Amino acid sequence: MNALNIYNPVKIHFGCGLISESGKIAKKYSDSALIITGKSSMQKTGTLDRLTKNLKDAGVNPTIYDKITPNPTIDEIDEAAVIAKKKGVGLIIGLGGGSPLDSAKAVAVAAKGNIPVWNYLKTSAEEALPVITIVSTSGTGSEVNRYSVMSNPETGEKPGFGYVCMYPKEAVIDPEIMLSMPPYVTATTGFDVFVHVLEAFTGKAKNAFSSAYCMQTFYLLKDNLIKAYNEPDNIEARGNMALASALAGLAIDISGVGIIHAMEHPVSGNYPNVAHGVGLAALTIESMKYNIAACKRDFMLIAHHLGIKRAGKSDDEYAASLIEKIQEILEALNLNTGLKDLGVEKDKLAKIAGEAFTTMGFAVQNNPETIDEKEVLRLLEASY
Ligand code: NDP
Ligand code: MN
Repeated sequence: MNALNIYNPVKIHFGCGLISESGKIAKKYSDSALIITGKSSMQKTGTLDRLTKNLKDAGVNPTIYDKITPNPTIDEIDEAAVIAKKKGVGLIIGLGGGSPLDSAKAVAVAAKGNIPVWNYLKTSAEEALPVITIVSTSGTGSEVNRYSVMSNPETGEKPGFGYVCMYPKEAVIDPEIMLSMPPYVTATTGFDVFVHVLEAFTGKAKNAFSSAYCMQTFYLLKDNLIKAYNEPDNIEARGNMALASALAGLAIDISGVGIIHAMEHPVSGNYPNVAHGVGLAALTIESMKYNIAACKRDFMLIAHHLGIKRAGKSDDEYAASLIEKIQEILEALNLNTGLKDLGVEKDKLAKIAGEAFTTMGFAVQNNPETIDEKEVLRLLEASY
């Protein structure tokens, strides 16, 4: 048996209305905080105002950086880190979806050092400012893991990185904040959860701990993914998707992702208008077909957890029925799309295939079936 090291220090607070505890939580770490958020959603819903008031009431002085774009860039992160240093804040609070949360962790590292954040891909970081995540999508799982994904707008590269010092200290998961997600954001972020557990459950680094998180996540997805999309005000479905996001985030923290993420990062890195989840949606079916032989039993187990009836099917047929089910889910979420529909140019596919290896090599290595650059290019073409 392989040796295992399992570690996740994030204190998780889950419950409706819990954003009102943020000030009290923040005060444990510092009297001054930099809030990292996006450009509009948290302002429009009043969530940012609630947070700043809550912080002030608890005696924490907030500064706001609200220029994070979806698929955040290193320029935004470096700019926010300069502000953190100038203000001398002792805490970074990420408020929003995966983009602001990932940025918050990267800012926390960059604010402690004297080099551009991009350099931390090569130089490991030993210390970071403490981070609290307040998540608004479900989602990336960024609220509970150490990963940060950032884009280099000059090259189109979009690598992920994650050092032990980047774990959030505490995560506030308040499903009420997620009620305002428009259907498209619910669909794309919800599908991201599915791909996290698909890849953690089937990857070479899978183990008993991550699989336990994955199996519960599959159950939650079965009953709540499409429901949250069709019934945006259903707080029960929103809450269950928030749990699924966090469980899947813990699963990938332990066992990583695979070829679907490895290909998607260069897609949304080169095309920042493509939401991470819809990029994944375009790549999932062909990747599953490629992997099915290497993880037949896992696909059968997932099929079982998603409630697909076995009804006399052979092992091969039952494993294949998972791919049909995912196709149905994509249609129900209106995410049935190809890379071409997303604006990806055909002559960029070779660059994307190359970057899957150079920026997401660990995910390529983790894929259940061995894969080379030629095969990746073929998958991209088949997903076009
Ligand atoms: P984003 O954080 O990019 O948000 C997408 C859009 O949804 C934004 O326009 C945002 O608004 C809006 N939005 C967010 N929350 C709400 C809400 N409650 N109500 C209304 N609108 C809302 O989306 P994701 O969460 O999918 O994050 C994607 C990023 O995370 C990518 O860069 C991806 O690569 C990364 N990622 C990180 C992982 C990790 O493990 N750390 C794993 C997987 C992906 P606004 O513009 O105002 O922010
Ligand atoms: Mn993802």
